[in-house]
Amino acid sequence: MSQGLRVGAVSEFTDPVAALREIAYLMDRARADTHRVKAYRRAAAVVAGLSARDRAAHETVGDWTSVPGLGPKTAAVVRQALAGRIPDTLARLRSEKAPLTTGGHLLWDALRGDLHVHTLWSDGGADLDEMAVAEQQLGREYIAITDHSPRLRIARGLSADRLREQWDAIADLNEALGGFRVLRGIEVDILADGSLDQAPELLAGLDVVVASVHSGLQMDRESMTHRMVAAIAHPRTNVLGHCTGRLLGGERGVRGESVFDAEVVFAACAQFSVAVEINSRPERCDPPNRLLSLAAEMGCLFSIDTDAHAPGQLEFGWYGCDRAERHGIDADRIVDTWPVERLLDWTASATRG
Ligand SMILES: [Zn+2]
Ligand SMILES: [Zn+2]
Repeated sequence: MSQGLRVGAVSEFTDPVAALREIAYLMDRARADTHRVKAYRRAAAVVAGLSARDRAAHETVGDWTSVPGLGPKTAAVVRQALAGRIPDTLARLRSEKAPLTTGGHLLWDALRGDLHVHTLWSDGGADLDEMAVAEQQLGREYIAITDHSPRLRIARGLSADRLREQWDAIADLNEALGGFRVLRGIEVDILADGSLDQAPELLAGLDVVVASVHSGLQMDRESMTHRMVAAIAHPRTNVLGHCTGRLLGGERGVRGESVFDAEVVFAACAQFSVAVEINSRPERCDPPNRLLSLAAEMGCLFSIDTDAHAPGQLEFGWYGCDRAERHGIDADRIVDTWPVERLLDWTASATRG
Protein backbone atom coordinates (compact mmCIF):
# COMPACT_ATOMS: atom_id res chain seq x y z
CA MET A 1 0.00 0.00 0.00
CA SER A 2 1.25 3.43 -0.83
CA GLN A 3 2.00 5.95 1.84
CA GLY A 4 -0.64 8.13 0.22
CA LEU A 5 -3.38 5.94 1.69
CA ARG A 6 -2.57 6.85 5.25
CA VAL A 7 -5.43 8.60 6.96
CA GLY A 8 -4.23 8.55 10.56
CA ALA A 9 -2.30 11.23 12.38
CA VAL A 10 1.01 11.99 10.75
CA SER A 11 3.09 14.67 12.39
CA GLU A 12 4.84 15.98 9.32
CA PHE A 13 3.93 16.05 5.69
CA THR A 14 5.77 16.03 2.50
CA ASP A 15 2.95 14.11 0.89
CA PRO A 16 0.15 16.40 -0.32
CA VAL A 17 -2.10 13.43 -1.16
CA ALA A 18 -1.99 12.19 2.43
CA ALA A 19 -2.74 15.72 3.67
CA LEU A 20 -5.75 16.11 1.36
CA ARG A 21 -7.07 12.69 2.35
CA GLU A 22 -6.71 13.35 6.05
CA ILE A 23 -8.58 16.64 5.64
CA ALA A 24 -11.40 14.81 3.84
CA TYR A 25 -11.39 12.14 6.57
CA LEU A 26 -11.69 14.65 9.39
CA MET A 27 -14.40 16.60 7.58
CA ASP A 28 -16.46 13.45 6.96
CA ARG A 29 -16.00 12.39 10.55
CA ALA A 30 -17.29 15.79 11.66
CA ARG A 31 -20.27 15.46 9.27
CA ALA A 32 -19.30 18.31 6.97
CA ASP A 33 -21.31 18.93 3.81
CA THR A 34 -20.49 16.15 1.32
CA HIS A 35 -19.85 18.57 -1.55
CA ARG A 36 -17.25 20.50 0.39
CA VAL A 37 -15.50 17.25 1.30
CA LYS A 38 -15.61 16.02 -2.29
CA ALA A 39 -13.36 18.89 -3.38
CA TYR A 40 -10.56 17.58 -1.14
CA ARG A 41 -11.03 13.97 -2.14
CA ARG A 42 -11.09 14.89 -5.81
CA ALA A 43 -7.95 17.00 -5.36
CA ALA A 44 -6.21 14.04 -3.69
CA ALA A 45 -7.11 11.83 -6.66
CA VAL A 46 -5.89 14.46 -9.14
CA VAL A 47 -2.53 14.94 -7.41
CA ALA A 48 -2.08 11.18 -6.95
CA GLY A 49 -2.74 10.76 -10.68
CA LEU A 50 -0.17 13.30 -11.89
CA SER A 51 2.84 11.94 -13.69
CA ALA A 52 6.19 12.48 -11.94
CA ARG A 53 7.08 14.96 -14.66
CA ASP A 54 3.91 17.04 -14.33
CA ARG A 55 4.25 17.03 -10.61
CA ALA A 56 7.84 18.19 -10.74
CA ALA A 57 6.88 20.95 -13.16
CA HIS A 58 4.19 22.30 -10.85
CA GLU A 59 6.48 21.93 -7.87
CA THR A 60 9.17 24.02 -9.56
CA VAL A 61 6.79 26.80 -10.52
CA GLY A 62 4.94 26.52 -7.21
CA ASP A 63 1.61 27.05 -8.94
CA TRP A 64 -1.08 24.45 -8.28
CA THR A 65 -4.25 26.43 -8.96
CA SER A 66 -3.75 25.84 -12.68
CA VAL A 67 -4.16 22.07 -12.21
CA PRO A 68 -7.71 21.08 -13.28
CA GLY A 69 -9.55 19.77 -10.21
CA LEU A 70 -7.68 21.98 -7.74
CA GLY A 71 -9.05 25.25 -6.35
CA PRO A 72 -7.44 27.92 -4.16
CA LYS A 73 -8.03 25.98 -0.92
CA THR A 74 -6.81 22.60 -2.13
CA ALA A 75 -3.87 24.19 -3.96
CA ALA A 76 -2.81 25.85 -0.70
CA VAL A 77 -2.83 22.46 1.02
CA VAL A 78 -0.60 21.00 -1.67
CA ARG A 79 1.81 23.93 -1.55
CA GLN A 80 2.11 23.89 2.23
CA ALA A 81 2.54 20.12 2.41
CA LEU A 82 5.27 20.21 -0.21
CA ALA A 83 6.99 22.91 1.83
CA GLY A 84 7.25 20.26 4.56
CA ARG A 85 4.75 21.68 6.99
CA ILE A 86 1.30 20.73 8.19
CA PRO A 87 -1.20 22.58 6.00
CA ASP A 88 -3.24 25.21 7.88
CA THR A 89 -6.57 23.54 7.10
CA LEU A 90 -5.31 20.23 8.42
CA ALA A 91 -3.87 21.82 11.57
CA ARG A 92 -7.22 23.49 12.26
CA LEU A 93 -9.23 20.28 11.71
CA ARG A 94 -6.88 18.30 13.94
CA SER A 95 -7.24 20.85 16.72
CA GLU A 96 -11.04 20.74 16.40
CA LYS A 97 -11.21 16.94 16.50
CA ALA A 98 -13.36 15.92 19.46
CA PRO A 99 -14.80 12.59 20.68
CA LEU A 100 -18.05 11.77 18.86
CA THR A 101 -19.76 10.33 21.94
CA THR A 102 -19.25 10.20 25.70
CA GLY A 103 -20.03 6.46 25.94
CA GLY A 104 -19.63 3.31 23.88
CA HIS A 105 -15.96 2.72 24.67
CA LEU A 106 -16.26 -0.95 25.63
CA LEU A 107 -18.06 -1.91 22.45
CA TRP A 108 -15.88 0.32 20.28
CA ASP A 109 -12.88 -1.57 21.62
CA ALA A 110 -14.66 -4.90 21.11
CA LEU A 111 -15.62 -4.29 17.46
CA ARG A 112 -13.54 -6.26 14.98
CA GLY A 113 -15.18 -5.13 11.78
CA ASP A 114 -17.97 -3.42 9.92
CA LEU A 115 -20.58 -5.20 7.80
CA HIS A 116 -22.09 -2.27 5.89
CA VAL A 117 -19.85 0.00 3.83
CA HIS A 118 -20.14 1.65 0.39
CA THR A 119 -17.46 2.57 -2.11
CA LEU A 120 -17.11 4.38 -5.44
CA TRP A 121 -18.43 1.21 -7.07
CA SER A 122 -21.93 2.39 -6.08
CA ASP A 123 -22.69 5.67 -4.28
CA GLY A 124 -19.70 5.90 -1.93
CA GLY A 125 -17.01 8.55 -2.18
CA ALA A 126 -13.82 6.48 -1.87
CA ASP A 127 -12.41 3.37 -3.45
CA LEU A 128 -12.17 -0.10 -1.92
CA ASP A 129 -8.56 0.22 -0.82
CA GLU A 130 -9.05 3.54 0.90
CA MET A 131 -12.04 2.25 2.88
CA ALA A 132 -10.24 -0.97 3.84
CA VAL A 133 -7.05 0.79 4.93
CA ALA A 134 -9.02 3.32 6.98
CA GLU A 135 -10.85 0.46 8.73
CA GLN A 136 -7.56 -1.33 9.36
CA GLN A 137 -6.13 1.85 10.88
CA LEU A 138 -9.03 1.91 13.33
CA GLY A 139 -7.63 -1.36 14.66
CA ARG A 140 -10.23 -3.57 13.00
CA GLU A 141 -9.72 -7.00 11.42
CA TYR A 142 -12.28 -7.03 8.61
CA ILE A 143 -14.67 -4.98 6.52
CA ALA A 144 -17.55 -6.10 4.33
CA ILE A 145 -17.93 -4.11 1.14
CA THR A 146 -21.68 -3.83 0.63
CA ASP A 147 -22.43 -1.74 -2.42
CA HIS A 148 -25.98 -1.43 -3.69
CA SER A 149 -27.88 -3.91 -5.89
CA PRO A 150 -29.01 -3.30 -9.52
CA ARG A 151 -32.50 -1.85 -8.96
CA LEU A 152 -31.15 1.05 -6.93
CA ARG A 153 -30.10 2.93 -10.06
CA ILE A 154 -29.95 6.27 -8.30
CA ALA A 155 -27.10 4.84 -6.18
CA ARG A 156 -25.43 3.13 -9.19
CA GLY A 157 -26.38 -0.34 -7.99
CA LEU A 158 -24.03 -3.07 -9.22
CA SER A 159 -25.08 -5.38 -12.06
CA ALA A 160 -24.15 -9.06 -11.78
CA ASP A 161 -21.11 -8.43 -14.01
CA ARG A 162 -19.88 -5.47 -12.00
CA LEU A 163 -20.33 -7.40 -8.76
CA ARG A 164 -18.14 -10.20 -10.17
CA GLU A 165 -15.59 -7.59 -11.21
CA GLN A 166 -15.63 -6.22 -7.69
CA TRP A 167 -14.84 -9.69 -6.33
CA ASP A 168 -11.65 -9.71 -8.40
CA ALA A 169 -10.69 -6.32 -7.00
CA ILE A 170 -11.39 -7.58 -3.48
CA ALA A 171 -9.25 -10.67 -4.04
CA ASP A 172 -6.34 -8.47 -5.17
CA LEU A 173 -6.81 -6.19 -2.19
CA ASN A 174 -6.83 -9.11 0.25
CA GLU A 175 -3.51 -10.22 -1.15
CA ALA A 176 -2.09 -6.72 -0.75
CA LEU A 177 -3.38 -6.21 2.80
CA GLY A 178 -2.08 -9.40 4.36
CA GLY A 179 -3.82 -10.15 7.67
CA PHE A 180 -6.75 -7.77 7.22
CA ARG A 181 -9.83 -9.33 5.54
CA VAL A 182 -12.00 -7.60 2.98
CA LEU A 183 -15.27 -9.52 2.72
CA ARG A 184 -17.46 -9.78 -0.36
CA GLY A 185 -20.77 -8.24 0.60
CA ILE A 186 -23.84 -6.52 -0.77
CA GLU A 187 -26.57 -4.25 0.48
CA VAL A 188 -29.30 -5.92 -1.47
CA ASP A 189 -32.66 -4.27 -2.02
CA ILE A 190 -35.67 -6.00 -0.56
CA LEU A 191 -38.11 -5.80 -3.46
CA ALA A 192 -41.84 -5.14 -2.99
CA ASP A 193 -42.63 -8.87 -2.78
CA GLY A 194 -39.82 -9.57 -0.29
CA SER A 195 -37.46 -11.14 -2.82
CA LEU A 196 -33.84 -9.98 -3.04
CA ASP A 197 -32.50 -7.91 -5.92
CA GLN A 198 -29.60 -10.10 -7.09
CA ALA A 199 -29.22 -13.44 -8.85
CA PRO A 200 -29.19 -16.46 -6.47
CA GLU A 201 -25.80 -17.70 -7.72
CA LEU A 202 -24.24 -14.34 -6.90
CA LEU A 203 -25.87 -14.15 -3.50
CA ALA A 204 -24.45 -17.63 -2.87
CA GLY A 205 -20.95 -16.37 -3.63
CA LEU A 206 -21.02 -13.56 -1.08
CA ASP A 207 -19.58 -13.59 2.42
CA VAL A 208 -22.14 -11.19 3.89
CA VAL A 209 -25.62 -10.13 2.76
CA VAL A 210 -27.26 -7.04 4.24
CA ALA A 211 -30.88 -6.77 3.07
CA SER A 212 -32.60 -3.37 3.21
CA VAL A 213 -35.79 -1.68 2.07
CA HIS A 214 -35.11 1.42 -0.05
CA SER A 215 -38.34 1.84 -2.02
CA GLY A 216 -42.04 1.64 -1.29
CA LEU A 217 -41.32 2.67 2.29
CA GLN A 218 -44.89 3.84 2.82
CA MET A 219 -46.37 0.39 2.17
CA ASP A 220 -49.22 -0.65 4.50
CA ARG A 221 -48.33 -2.44 7.72
CA GLU A 222 -49.39 -5.92 6.71
CA SER A 223 -47.68 -5.87 3.31
CA MET A 224 -44.49 -4.39 4.79
CA THR A 225 -44.40 -7.07 7.50
CA HIS A 226 -44.77 -9.83 4.90
CA ARG A 227 -42.15 -8.22 2.70
CA MET A 228 -39.60 -7.96 5.51
CA VAL A 229 -40.24 -11.45 6.88
CA ALA A 230 -39.85 -12.95 3.39
CA ALA A 231 -36.46 -11.24 3.07
CA ILE A 232 -35.37 -12.31 6.56
CA ALA A 233 -36.35 -15.91 5.79
CA HIS A 234 -34.29 -15.87 2.57
CA PRO A 235 -31.47 -18.36 3.07
CA ARG A 236 -28.79 -15.80 2.13
CA THR A 237 -29.85 -12.89 4.35
CA ASN A 238 -27.51 -12.20 7.27
CA VAL A 239 -28.33 -8.67 8.38
CA LEU A 240 -31.54 -6.62 8.25
CA GLY A 241 -30.36 -3.11 7.29
CA HIS A 242 -31.84 0.15 8.77
CA CYS A 243 -35.19 -1.50 9.49
CA THR A 244 -37.50 1.54 9.66
CA GLY A 245 -35.88 3.60 6.89
CA ARG A 246 -36.40 6.78 8.90
CA LEU A 247 -34.31 9.90 8.32
CA LEU A 248 -33.85 12.41 11.10
CA GLY A 249 -32.56 15.24 8.92
CA GLY A 250 -29.45 16.14 6.99
CA GLU A 251 -28.95 16.34 3.25
CA ARG A 252 -31.85 14.03 2.42
CA GLY A 253 -34.31 15.68 4.78
CA VAL A 254 -36.68 14.03 7.23
CA ARG A 255 -38.60 10.80 6.63
CA GLY A 256 -40.89 8.95 9.02
CA GLU A 257 -40.56 5.29 9.93
CA SER A 258 -41.96 2.53 7.76
CA VAL A 259 -44.79 0.77 9.56
CA PHE A 260 -44.57 -2.96 10.25
CA ASP A 261 -45.31 -5.47 13.01
CA ALA A 262 -42.00 -5.26 14.82
CA GLU A 263 -42.69 -8.28 17.02
CA VAL A 264 -43.23 -10.47 13.99
CA VAL A 265 -40.21 -9.04 12.17
CA PHE A 266 -37.82 -9.43 15.12
CA ALA A 267 -39.20 -12.90 15.91
CA ALA A 268 -38.26 -13.84 12.33
CA CYS A 269 -34.77 -12.33 12.82
CA ALA A 270 -34.32 -14.42 15.98
CA GLN A 271 -35.65 -17.57 14.29
CA PHE A 272 -33.52 -17.27 11.15
CA SER A 273 -30.45 -15.96 12.96
CA VAL A 274 -30.50 -12.67 11.07
CA ALA A 275 -28.82 -9.77 12.87
CA VAL A 276 -30.78 -6.57 13.37
CA GLU A 277 -28.57 -3.77 12.18
CA ILE A 278 -27.84 -0.89 14.52
CA ASN A 279 -27.29 1.64 11.76
CA SER A 280 -24.85 4.20 13.16
CA ARG A 281 -25.38 6.98 10.62
CA PRO A 282 -26.46 9.96 12.71
CA GLU A 283 -29.29 10.87 10.34
CA ARG A 284 -30.62 7.29 10.45
CA CYS A 285 -30.07 6.18 14.05
CA ASP A 286 -32.10 3.10 13.20
CA PRO A 287 -33.81 1.20 14.87
CA PRO A 288 -35.32 3.86 17.13
CA ASN A 289 -34.95 3.27 20.89
CA ARG A 290 -38.26 1.48 21.48
CA LEU A 291 -37.54 -0.98 18.64
CA LEU A 292 -33.95 -1.48 19.73
CA SER A 293 -35.22 -2.39 23.22
CA LEU A 294 -37.79 -4.75 21.72
CA ALA A 295 -35.23 -6.53 19.52
CA ALA A 296 -32.91 -6.85 22.53
CA GLU A 297 -35.71 -8.35 24.63
CA MET A 298 -36.61 -10.77 21.86
CA GLY A 299 -33.12 -12.25 21.82
CA CYS A 300 -31.99 -10.95 18.43
CA LEU A 301 -28.42 -10.72 17.28
CA PHE A 302 -27.16 -7.29 16.26
CA SER A 303 -24.63 -5.81 13.89
CA ILE A 304 -23.23 -2.35 14.63
CA ASP A 305 -22.74 -0.96 11.15
CA THR A 306 -21.57 2.42 9.96
CA ASP A 307 -23.16 2.41 6.48
CA ALA A 308 -20.11 4.56 5.73
CA HIS A 309 -19.90 6.21 2.31
CA ALA A 310 -16.45 7.69 3.04
CA PRO A 311 -13.48 6.71 5.23
CA GLY A 312 -14.10 9.33 7.96
CA GLN A 313 -17.63 7.97 8.39
CA LEU A 314 -16.20 4.66 9.62
CA GLU A 315 -15.96 6.40 12.99
CA PHE A 316 -19.75 6.80 13.05
CA GLY A 317 -19.56 3.37 14.70
CA TRP A 318 -19.13 5.32 17.93
CA TYR A 319 -22.80 6.34 17.74
CA GLY A 320 -23.96 2.75 17.36
CA CYS A 321 -21.67 1.52 20.16
CA ASP A 322 -22.95 4.25 22.46
CA ARG A 323 -26.58 3.31 21.77
CA ALA A 324 -25.98 -0.44 22.11
CA GLU A 325 -24.22 0.09 25.44
CA ARG A 326 -27.06 2.26 26.72
CA HIS A 327 -29.45 -0.57 25.82
CA GLY A 328 -27.34 -3.09 27.72
CA ILE A 329 -26.56 -5.23 24.67
CA ASP A 330 -23.62 -7.56 25.31
CA ALA A 331 -20.70 -7.69 22.92
CA ASP A 332 -21.30 -11.40 22.31
CA ARG A 333 -24.68 -10.66 20.70
CA ILE A 334 -23.06 -8.20 18.30
CA VAL A 335 -21.81 -10.22 15.34
CA ASP A 336 -19.12 -7.77 14.26
CA THR A 337 -17.31 -8.23 17.56
CA TRP A 338 -16.76 -11.86 16.55
CA PRO A 339 -13.51 -13.13 15.03
CA VAL A 340 -13.79 -13.41 11.26
CA GLU A 341 -13.89 -17.24 11.30
CA ARG A 342 -16.89 -17.25 13.64
CA LEU A 343 -18.54 -14.50 11.63
CA LEU A 344 -18.13 -16.45 8.38
CA ASP A 345 -19.40 -19.67 9.99
CA TRP A 346 -22.49 -17.75 10.98
CA THR A 347 -23.07 -16.08 7.59
CA ALA A 348 -22.57 -19.42 5.83
CA SER A 349 -24.92 -21.22 8.22
CA ALA A 350 -27.74 -19.12 6.75
CA THR A 351 -27.21 -21.04 3.51
CA ARG A 352 -27.22 -24.42 5.24
CA GLY A 353 -30.49 -23.50 7.00
ZN1 LIG B 1 -29.44 1.41 2.73
ZN1 LIG C 1 -26.05 1.43 2.89
